[in-house]
Amino acid sequence: MESYRKILLATDFNEHSDQAGARAMDLAQRHQAELSVLHVVENLPIGDAAYGPIVPFDIDLTDQMMDAARVRLKELGERLGVPESRQFVEIGSPKGEIIRLAEDLGADLIVVGSHGRHGIALLLGSTAASVVHHARCDVLAVRLREP
Ligand code: AMP
Repeated sequence: MESYRKILLATDFNEHSDQAGARAMDLAQRHQAELSVLHVVENLPIGDAAYGPIVPFDIDLTDQMMDAARVRLKELGERLGVPESRQFVEIGSPKGEIIRLAEDLGADLIVVGSHGRHGIALLLGSTAASVVHHARCDVLAVRLREP
């Protein structure tokens, strides 16, 4: 089996996501692969009763969320040994951005958690399932367990 060369870890900072981080770091070390980390700030449409969801996002709020995400990603990067040049904060839909960045980076493995903040009940149709469907590379969905 060929080694993985570029691994992308997608994190939503959920309380159990360290388990996925630990697996990604372990795999990166074993394969001597480059590990990148990504958090996507979700661009949730703000509904407007009269006009529908035409206001895509509040710019100030989004900036604040991106800054906060950068701080958390930096902490995660320090724990996992990922330099700032491979820490990515993107805006949009998590599944779309995970797939896009994986392709841009030429990642050959994407690591996600089996479920996220939305809970295990929503696994079907979740980010993990969608990434598995659309990725052009391998995807590892790390089963997140209650600590
Ligand atoms: P979920 O779709 O919420 O069940 O999340 C499943 C997994 O997808 C999480 O454990 C993360 O690895 C990834 N994920 C979900 N949301 C995001 C996000 N906003 N940014 C990066 N990764 C995410």
